[in-house]
Amino acid sequence: MRRFKFIRDPLATDIGNNVEEFLRLLDGPTCFFVSGDDDTRCRALVTLLHGNEPSGAMALHRWLKSAERPAVNVVCIVASVAAALEAPLFSHRMLPRARDLNRCFRPPFEDAQGALAEEILEILRMHHPEAVVDMHNTSGSGPSFGVCTHMDRQHDALVSIFTQRLIVSRLDLGALMDISEHSYPTVTVEVGGRLDEEAHELAYEGLCRYFAASHVLDETDTDWGLELLCDPIRLELNDYVTLTYADEPHNNYDITLRLDIEHHNFGGVTPDTLLGWADGQERDLFTALDAGGRCAVTRLVRIEQGKLYPAQPLKLFMITNNAAIAEADCLFYAVADDGSTVVS
Ligand SMILES: [Zn+2]
Repeated sequence: MRRFKFIRDPLATDIGNNVEEFLRLLDGPTCFFVSGDDDTRCRALVTLLHGNEPSGAMALHRWLKSAERPAVNVVCIVASVAAALEAPLFSHRMLPRARDLNRCFRPPFEDAQGALAEEILEILRMHHPEAVVDMHNTSGSGPSFGVCTHMDRQHDALVSIFTQRLIVSRLDLGALMDISEHSYPTVTVEVGGRLDEEAHELAYEGLCRYFAASHVLDETDTDWGLELLCDPIRLELNDYVTLTYADEPHNNYDITLRLDIEHHNFGGVTPDTLLGWADGQERDLFTALDAGGRCAVTRLVRIEQGKLYPAQPLKLFMITNNAAIAEADCLFYAVADDGSTVVS
């Protein structure tokens, strides 16, 4: 089983000339410790939990190359190096048949991914950082946003270092932030699409700000002006329901979603916005549970004469146009049009 490699204050000349050389040198999960001006405090960056999300590792490599000294000590955890290196580079979220590492941060920690997650928690416990940032990319192209499980001004301040949009969600899927939040203010930052140059740039600039600032948590009542999206509900497909994406209804599938549905990402939709076409009753095709565990399907979508519409004005996000992701994860997340949770 692969264990973490620890590297203290690496030299800019020892870490390869590009991110691929960097990861080949690491060759497995690695934890960097970089001494800061104030060595009584520490901040943590976790990245590459998913091997196909390169922005964080690229940003860290670039930052280490700059030989910049951080304001406080920083601990940087680069997790799924092996999955990232599996050819072609940055194409595997995890190795074949392995569990999604960002669903493994709760017992049992029995398999290799569980052991890796447990070791990450152990490293954080050892350093007790004042904040934890877990940096990811989205699979499709799209804007950046932060996610946290708990909202207060600390999280506001932390997220605003990277982005202006914050999703507050208590989904409790076994993600790193679900558990580390109990000990340190933690945010997940989705810097944007995994293939977007803009996302790589935001990752680097955000990381520089995060490491250089003397304070990243706010002690005052500053209004950071974040757009908040609270307790989104996931719209999922029921088992054996078939789905495709096209510009017109496909009779061989239960559901056809419009090809341009992604354009509604983080935008508003109204009850007249045509999302696609569907054959059947809403609850036969979809599952959606609100934070109280009640069925919310008919609060999200309605089917009228074979056409699929939002049930009310909504804001949709993390919309996928990839049927495999829609099946394995969900079609999209939804909140009410003012950003609050969808109530009955
Ligand atoms: Zn991810």
